[in-house]
Amino acid sequence: MIEYKSEKEIELIRESSLLVAKTLGEVAKTIRPGIKTIELDKLAEEFIRDHGAVPGFKGYHGFSGTLCISPNEQVVHGIPGQRELKEGDIISIDCGVLKNGFYGDSAYTFAIGEIDEAVRRLLHVTYQCLTLGIEQAIEGNTLGDISFTIQDHAEANGYSVVRELVGHGLGRNLHEPPEVPNFGKKGKGLKLRKGLVVAIEPMINLGKRFVVQEKDGWTIRTSDRMPSAHYEHTIAVGVDKADVLSSFSHIIESLKSNINNSIIIE
Ligand code: MG
Ligand code: MG
Repeated sequence: MIEYKSEKEIELIRESSLLVAKTLGEVAKTIRPGIKTIELDKLAEEFIRDHGAVPGFKGYHGFSGTLCISPNEQVVHGIPGQRELKEGDIISIDCGVLKNGFYGDSAYTFAIGEIDEAVRRLLHVTYQCLTLGIEQAIEGNTLGDISFTIQDHAEANGYSVVRELVGHGLGRNLHEPPEVPNFGKKGKGLKLRKGLVVAIEPMINLGKRFVVQEKDGWTIRTSDRMPSAHYEHTIAVGVDKADVLSSFSHIIESLKSNINNSIIIE
């Protein structure tokens, strides 16, 4: 059953989502070639706990990390570890926190130094998919309007949409109904109304849409091992305009002063 949120509850989800935004901003200050993904994870966990919250993913169905860190051909759910980032990598970093009983969830795909032009374009179009999807999250539209818009933009640019993983409702739980697929038909599905809070998170592949799960039981990667991009915001459905509860502004500000990162996707 879908739980529609009160204004007060939405403010609490905003607080959690903004802590996610600030955590990703801290990660963005530190991200560079040579850093291990486990180091980014530790930094994020400390930052979250210092702000009176707990990591939302750590322990979730037994996940070991605070962040999901998914480089290159990994789509989502990559486990932080000893892998070192290198120039030319792209890396999806997904973060969730639980504060005051409510979750926030957001993800950004970073470029490490200079990346291939074809991959930069994939990131840019995936970011646009998120923005265009969010624009559809208004009263009177349907979930299918969000899904269709994302799929249409990705495929019009020659990319494919991951089907096995989708966006989701959230609030007192990290994942709640409804599912928010990144593919679908205009005008179909749930009618959107105020109080609905969802995470919209396009996962877009440079090659074919198919994915497999690694033996670690978590990591999802593309079958053809071509790059995949992922951006996510937590949003509340609005009357004229969606209310974006998470934010990339902390990431963007950090990347501007991070000399190791020359490319900012926005
Ligand atoms: Mg997420
Ligand atoms: Mg999510």
